[in-house]
Amino acid sequence: MFSQQTGIALEYEALLAPLDGFVRCVAAFFEAGGGGVNVTLPFKEAAFDWVTSCDEFAGAAGAVNTIVASDRAYRGYNTDGIGLVNDLTRNLGYSLGDKRVLILGAGGAVRGILGPLLGASPRCIVVANRTRSRAQELVDRLEDPRLRACDAEHLDEGAFDVVVNGTSAGLVGAMPKISERAIQGSLVYDMVYGDNAKPFRDWAIANGADAAVDGLGMLVEQAAEAFRLFHGVRPDGAAALRRLRDEQA
Ligand code: NAP
Repeated sequence: MFSQQTGIALEYEALLAPLDGFVRCVAAFFEAGGGGVNVTLPFKEAAFDWVTSCDEFAGAAGAVNTIVASDRAYRGYNTDGIGLVNDLTRNLGYSLGDKRVLILGAGGAVRGILGPLLGASPRCIVVANRTRSRAQELVDRLEDPRLRACDAEHLDEGAFDVVVNGTSAGLVGAMPKISERAIQGSLVYDMVYGDNAKPFRDWAIANGADAAVDGLGMLVEQAAEAFRLFHGVRPDGAAALRRLRDEQA
């Protein structure tokens, strides 16, 4: 869609890397003349270790989801957070200013979203993960007084304005465990998209959330930012998202 919008011809394909073969796979791709790569789970931290340099968000996150090649140098970026914030603020018209935000999960994607979310001036962000130590590591890394870590199953702080599900539970038909008190009147945002996001969204609406959306808009907006990094032109994410939603419907 972005290629059509901008008139920039491109080949864009999926590469399946073996779990122990990310570096081999990505190096072979660039060796064969590839220009750029989007990286998804579970390789974002491995991509951070591999790139020759990285931008501010990837550096703060320790996770890379976009690699751009130039003269045998490989620069890493993290566009996940920009994608999430753009979807929330531009596509959904939601302001994060002074809001209390809860994030579930502490994997590669959550690493990437914290910096841009903090840039949108929330009052506080609580990172709750099944494995508390991973959430604590993220919070310690960013050293921002508005950030706090906690154990997802022992969260008891009342309702949050925004609750972001950044766990991969939905990909295997599971749901993160969270008290319904946390989602009363909240905007619930599931970073997962498609049918995998439905059980958590349905649960949220049935248990007191004000609205629940999936992460398709984030997917499109992080890709729009990656396209800008690859080609120097920012495509229209909102138009692409509308078309995808129409096709879904
Ligand atoms: P990841 O690095 O593998 O991290 C997975 C996270 O989910 C960890 O915090 C893990 O907790 C938690 N988790 C897994 N299964 C769980 C369960 N059954 N209950 C509770 N927590 C569970 O994955 P990632 O790269 O961060 O991606 C996370 C999700 O975001 C994926 O579903 C991915 O598709 C989605 N995503 C969407 C976009 C988008 O554009 N919409 C972009 C990026 C990612 P532990 O630490 O305890 O293992």
